[in-house]
Order: sequence, then C-alpha cells, then structure tokens
Amino acid sequence: MTIYNSLSGKLEEFKPLKDKKVTIYVCGITPYDTTHLGHAFTYISFDVLIRYLRFLGFNVSYAQNVTDVNDRDHDILDRAKEQHVSWKKLADFWTRKFLNDMHALNWIHPHHFAKASRHTHHMVDLIRELLDKKLAYQKNGSVYLDTAKFPDYGKLSKLKTDEMFKVSRDFEEDLQCPEKRHPLDVTLWRASTPDQPKHIPSFNSPFGKGRPGWHIECSAMSMEYLGDQIDIHGGGIDLKFPHHEAEIAQSEGATGKIPFVRYWLHTGTVHYLGKKMSKSEGNLELVSDILKKYSPNAIRWLLLSHHFSKSWEYEEKDLIQAQKNVNLVENAIKYANELTNNDHAINTFTQILDQNLDTPKALDFLLKMTKRSAKGLENLYTSLGFSLKKSKL
Ligand SMILES: [Zn+2]
Repeated sequence: MTIYNSLSGKLEEFKPLKDKKVTIYVCGITPYDTTHLGHAFTYISFDVLIRYLRFLGFNVSYAQNVTDVNDRDHDILDRAKEQHVSWKKLADFWTRKFLNDMHALNWIHPHHFAKASRHTHHMVDLIRELLDKKLAYQKNGSVYLDTAKFPDYGKLSKLKTDEMFKVSRDFEEDLQCPEKRHPLDVTLWRASTPDQPKHIPSFNSPFGKGRPGWHIECSAMSMEYLGDQIDIHGGGIDLKFPHHEAEIAQSEGATGKIPFVRYWLHTGTVHYLGKKMSKSEGNLELVSDILKKYSPNAIRWLLLSHHFSKSWEYEEKDLIQAQKNVNLVENAIKYANELTNNDHAINTFTQILDQNLDTPKALDFLLKMTKRSAKGLENLYTSLGFSLKKSKL
C-alpha cells in the first residue's frame, strides 16, 4: 500500500516499524462543543484506514486523546466559566456527546481513549526529561521548550519563521509571553498563579502547581500507549503547525529516537458556505442534526466520497446523493441474497485502496458493482465500516 506522508511530502510504500504490528495515534477533540462534519471527516477517514490495515492483515493498535485540560483559557475554561460549570463537568459532557455521535456512525472506538487530565504525570516525566537535556527551561514555575535547540524545527510544516508567527497568531498561541526566550517557544507547563480563579485546574508537579501545555499532551500520551516511535500519527491539516511540529521536537528531543513518527497523515478541512466549518464562523453542520434526516451510512458515504487529504465544501445535495447511493448499494446487497466472496472484485477493490486509500474511487467501484454482479458486494461495503444493521430511520 502507498500512503501520502506529510513529512516527506511524497507517496510512500507503507512499511510499519515492526513487521505486522501498526501503531496509530490520532489527535482527538477538545471537548467544549459538539461534533460537526469536520470532526467526523477526520475520525471516519482514520476509521477506514484502520479497517483497511486490518483487512490487509496488520494488527493495529489505536490511541486517541481528549484534550480536557491544557494551557489555554479560550476553549474549555472560558466556556465553563460562562456556563457556571466546572471544566471537568463540561469536558465529560461533550466527550460523551462526541462518543454518541461517532458510535452512531459505526466508528471504531480506540483501544486507548486517553483523557489528558488523567495523564499529567506522564507529561511531567517528559518535561523533566527535556529539562535534564537542557532542551527546555523554567521561568517562574512555567516550563518552555527551547525551540532554538532544534535546528530542524519546521521540518514537518516546512514553514518559514514569519509564516510560523502568522499561523501561531491564528492559533491564539501566546506569542507575547515575556517569560519566553523566543516568542515561538512552546509552553510545556503553565504555572498556576496565587490569584488564579477557582475554575482553572491546577496539578502538582516538581516545577510547582500548574497545568500541562496542549502540545506536550499528545507527545506524552502517544508515547505512553504506543511507544517512543509510532507508525502513523494523524490529525486535521490545521494541526500540522504548531501542534505536530512541537510534538516531533518534544518526543525526539526527549528520547533521541528519530523519527518519532514514521508516517504523518493529515486530513483536509470541511468548508460550508465558503468558509472552514467552525464554531467561530457559526457555519456548523452537526452530526446529531444530520442523523435526524439521513442514515449513518449516508453520512459515512458522503465523508468517504472525499479523499482524506483533500479539503472540500459541504452541500446538502451531496448528502442527498449519498443517501441515494447507499440505498442503491443496500438494495443490491438485499437481492444478491448471498454472502459470498468475489476474488476478482476484492482484487480490484484492494488495488484501489492500496493507492493512498482512494475511498472516492472505492465507492465508485461499489456503485459499478450494483449494475453488474453484486456478488461479494456486502463484504466490500461493510469492510468500509458501513453497517447493515437496521437503521433507526
Ligand atoms: Zn494532538
């Protein structure tokens, strides 16, 4: 199988570090809001990749995080304050909602679904390692990654310094912090302040009370569950910088093992009404709302009709078409009336998905099968995660 690796910028033959065992980490949600199509696109794309790797005979170990605590104020903490609930209650509520939405789409639950708040000791260990190696520095109880010590900082995103500043500003990274030696240095641990409001979480550490930075969380949790070096690390394209760039520096800096990740895979963004689907733009299409009108399989079809690496614009007409296609395939399966394999179809289907997980082409192939022989169609359809259990609709 070939797969597009964002690190090399090339299609590469997929070869895991350990023979038939594949480790995959996918950056998860910050739970303060509900699941929209953009989230579903990322997680269903990786769901299908995992299903396909299993189909090829790999033994896949899959971890995904929940950023229920981090160094930033403007997501969970501000929302919790507005709603007069604790950050924990808010995060648990939206995590449950996310799981309900994703399970409705027949999503594979990760082997390790790790909440950041329960792993702060791993983050502290990693930060200590970076301090010991003089790759990080302390200032007033906070700890920062010294990016000047990483000559290849930028090797994933390939951004020039001025572009790094621009993207960091868009990400609302704290560039003004006077404690940092360089504005782009990464916050690893943010110290609690004596007058800190009660709604802000605080954890013990050798550096003093505080909370972990967002970027160190994924380094620590991926290494905890999958090892110092992993095969595939995925996430939305907007996480490439600074999040994934920082993860590489932190993990490779602490362990000295290069590469931290063999294949970096990034999913495109979903746009709606001409802009990236996001809470701030107010252009969300929520999975839970769409499920009131369309079947889970129709949503899965819509998502897989776009290649994982490409950004796309959502239009309801495409969802209507996806529902029609799903009905067509499911009718053909009903009348095929036998669960048989079809070696020729399997070979063609495998050849398609072997080319950088070309799901749009794989769906076209399933549609073609409905017009010819539907023999073996059921196996191929369900291998992409479509469920033939009776829909509630
Ligand atoms: Zn992450």
